[in-house]
Amino acid sequence: MVLKSRWCYPTPQVSLPSYIFESPTTPLPTTPILISVRNPEKHHLSLSEYRLYAQRLASGLLRSGFQPGDRVLLFSGNTLFFPSVVIGVIMAGGIFTGANPTYVSRELAYQLKDSGARYLVCAEGSLETGLAAAKEAGLGSDQIFVFDDGVATFEGTTTEKDTPVGKLRPWTWLLDSKEKGRAFHWEDLRTDEELDRVIALNYSSGTTGVAKGVMITHKNYVANCSQQIFIGSLSPDYAEQVKRQRHLCFLPMYHAMAQAIFCVNSMKQRIPVYMMPKFDFLEMLQCIQKFRITDLTLVPPVVVAMAKHPASRKFDLSSVERVGSGAAPLGREVCVELEKLWPDGRVNVKQGWGMTELTCAATIFPPTALSLSFSVGELVPNCEAKIVLDDEGKLEAPQGERGEIWVKGPNVMKGYWNKPQATRETRTEDGWLKTGDVAYVDKENNFFIVDRKKELIKVKGLQVAPAELEALLLDHSDVQDAAVIGVTINGEELPRAYIVPQSPAKATPEAAEHIKNWLAARVSKAKRLEGGVYFIDAIPKNPSGKILRKILREKVALE
Ligand code: AMP
Repeated sequence: MVLKSRWCYPTPQVSLPSYIFESPTTPLPTTPILISVRNPEKHHLSLSEYRLYAQRLASGLLRSGFQPGDRVLLFSGNTLFFPSVVIGVIMAGGIFTGANPTYVSRELAYQLKDSGARYLVCAEGSLETGLAAAKEAGLGSDQIFVFDDGVATFEGTTTEKDTPVGKLRPWTWLLDSKEKGRAFHWEDLRTDEELDRVIALNYSSGTTGVAKGVMITHKNYVANCSQQIFIGSLSPDYAEQVKRQRHLCFLPMYHAMAQAIFCVNSMKQRIPVYMMPKFDFLEMLQCIQKFRITDLTLVPPVVVAMAKHPASRKFDLSSVERVGSGAAPLGREVCVELEKLWPDGRVNVKQGWGMTELTCAATIFPPTALSLSFSVGELVPNCEAKIVLDDEGKLEAPQGERGEIWVKGPNVMKGYWNKPQATRETRTEDGWLKTGDVAYVDKENNFFIVDRKKELIKVKGLQVAPAELEALLLDHSDVQDAAVIGVTINGEELPRAYIVPQSPAKATPEAAEHIKNWLAARVSKAKRLEGGVYFIDAIPKNPSGKILRKILREKVALE
């Protein structure tokens, strides 16, 4: 049975910049909307300034010879100017791609090459990694721009940087003057074809293999943001609520979730966002207290930390009205623990579910209902879903039974960048996205995510692709074969490797430790084999050589 969302309306037929700012000249609020938590008095941008920086960047990019469809890769933690880079690139007709700021150079080089980025905008503190990756990807120093932490841009102190490859220009070199910025008008797109242009490549491994560029279009972005805002607006006092809302952003903006919520949704609703450069538990609590934050967008490890850490009880968190969590599974028990921080029972922790291939979110728990289970809510407007029992999607599960969840709607990605085969395997011709998540639906059409059919491992909400780690492990001279799966230890998902050694004599605890450390030196933190390295006689595979991860998972379940 195909389940349809309760709500249906025409997706606004506008480009993403027009969705947020209406037009290049519409008068916009000049009060602070993007505010640095480190220097809130001085370092902030209004919506009008956010648009102007994006216009100046778009104008400057075109001046530099940037062509429609060119890619800009931003390698940085969150700064006040991150959203302006995202939208500026899009205003210029380009494609934005953000990389995880904790990447090592090999990982960054992969994304630079795969996306074919014309420019790398690299955080000043990550230049060593950025330059090594740029060299591997064949980018010249004229294609690299230094992104500061926002302070230098505000204070007008950005300068060229001396590096081993010579002088590098600051990103502000790409900004045209305020006058030129104001005069810059992004293209007014209206037709389906125009709105189907790709504007972002958000990297995800999807159901199988290594990370791929998820092609997100204007239509995808606008549709999903309006779907999320629609659900929020169901709150009976939405009009009043939105006036007093204050958001806190510590989730990384290179990822679909923070990008859609904070660069677009909060801005569209004119809600101030307090920006933390990165996650720090105590700083987060201090910020909630200091800035009277009303809404928290969390991921499960942060929910657990807040629920369990005694420090949470030492801060005044009374301003919080809503808490949401997504990106990975979360049990109800820990939500109940967290809710105890607000003894009046005012705060109900609600989950949403989505994936990069769905732009951001596909199910949300509406504000009009109380979440008493681990449900991830119901389908956002204009979406359909079915729970299927077979790979072709012909056998649909009866209501209440588990199966893979397939989703159809205007927020389903256009496909994977330069990977037509992977696109065909994930998105059917009639538009269904095979999510690789296992779910069931109750009588009220609430979705429950219960398992993952796909290979993907999620560590603290971050994607880890087993295929990438397996390929690396095979480069180790003591490894004959390898398989990586996710295991849950103390409620956290962690990558574990099963290794067939080159010789049985190599299967020692010391060898396991050595392989673990060897891999750790080649990957970002989330990908380290903290779930352990185990030796095995043979990796279970099907006749065509595909790793049978299910058998390895069953082995873990028996431990
Ligand atoms: P990403 O593309 O990085 O957003 O990762 C998407 C994947 O994260 C989904 O396909 C799920 O496997 C997992 N995920 C996201 N939200 C939830 C949730 N609320 N509960 C369980 N798993 C989730």
